[in-house]
Amino acid sequence: MTAEHTAAQGFSTRAIHAGQDPEAVTGAVVVPIYQTSTYAQDEVGVTRAGYDYSRAGNPTRTALETALASVEGGTAAVAFASGMAAGDTALRSMLKPGDHVIIPNDAYGGTFRLIDKICVPWGIEYTTVPLGDLEAVSAALRPTTKLIWVETPSNPLLGIADIAALAGLAHGAGAKLLVDNTFATPYLQLPLALGADVVLHSTTKYVGGHSDVIGGALVTSDDSLAEDFAFHAKSMGGIAGPFDAWLTLRGLKTLAVRMDRHCDNTEAIVELLLSHRGVVEVFYPGLPSNPGHEVAVRQMRRFGGMVSFRVAGGAAAAAQVCKSTELFTLAESLGGVESLIELPGVMTHASVAGSMLEVPDDLIRLSVGIEDVADLVADLRTALDAV
Ligand SMILES: *Cc1c(COP(=O)(O)O)cnc(C)c1O
Repeated sequence: MTAEHTAAQGFSTRAIHAGQDPEAVTGAVVVPIYQTSTYAQDEVGVTRAGYDYSRAGNPTRTALETALASVEGGTAAVAFASGMAAGDTALRSMLKPGDHVIIPNDAYGGTFRLIDKICVPWGIEYTTVPLGDLEAVSAALRPTTKLIWVETPSNPLLGIADIAALAGLAHGAGAKLLVDNTFATPYLQLPLALGADVVLHSTTKYVGGHSDVIGGALVTSDDSLAEDFAFHAKSMGGIAGPFDAWLTLRGLKTLAVRMDRHCDNTEAIVELLLSHRGVVEVFYPGLPSNPGHEVAVRQMRRFGGMVSFRVAGGAAAAAQVCKSTELFTLAESLGGVESLIELPGVMTHASVAGSMLEVPDDLIRLSVGIEDVADLVADLRTALDAV
């Protein structure tokens, strides 16, 4: 990142330019895909630009990491092969056997599985807590609590957690605060500025934005954490490859324009859902009925492209709606330009069935894309009218 690409510049200026100066030899305007595993050394141990092996560092990945750090308002980032690799690296960097972590009671299913099935056998303890309830979080803190893991908005019920208040609780207890910012993106929410120590992304979602690459990232302003993350990434090896880093960086450039359109379209879909007799409950942080609405207004620019709702007629009706839409594709994942529809109880959240994290079986989740909004509203209305 050159000196002029500072926080004094706007979001999209940094997304497009931070870490992305024209390439020195040819002037290529777009950061090249440095598809190389190793780098020539001029003398033993003397590298030309600090790169010696691509697991430790690669210029395409560095460009992505610099841009991500810049848009999140952090000083360092590490880009991973997936959001889960980022999460695993964060957990193994920040926790050791005997430590305790607080996680949301509606955590992303993969995060819950990682902690419950992989970390627990290694000696980590955890408590699931509704993070909107600060007293419950306080009560769950133990002397061994080293981390509070936050998702806001959460998945799939779009619950809101107060990042600044949780940072206060964590720091008061000698713990760190990590925010999974996948749903909000740095365009809508800046957790580090609100006191978080670490931001995690599944860049597979909005940052990549085109449903064509899996990736993850950790961002921080804490030098010691930054060093730990880089060391663990190099040692554990779950890093982003050059082509994946390049695709993700290409997505990041248009994040702000895409997010504004995602938000516009979602607001129109929410209007439809609120007025449709086949819908019994709508979950969206922009609605005053959402218990976290006031906090969301304080900590988010807008309310995002994810909305969930329950239909009259139960699970069978919900499944019928999911298979009746034509533009909304029935698929897992989220955050791409195309609209998706899914039934969390049997798709993304099947792994939490029977646990405290189980979701209602008549709940439908939408990832509202950036197609023409009239077409999206018509498609969903037709599907809802039919049940
Ligand atoms: C998808 C997702 C992850 C996991 O990321 P992958 O890139 O699929 O490994 C973590 N957190 C949230 C909120 C997600 O949506």
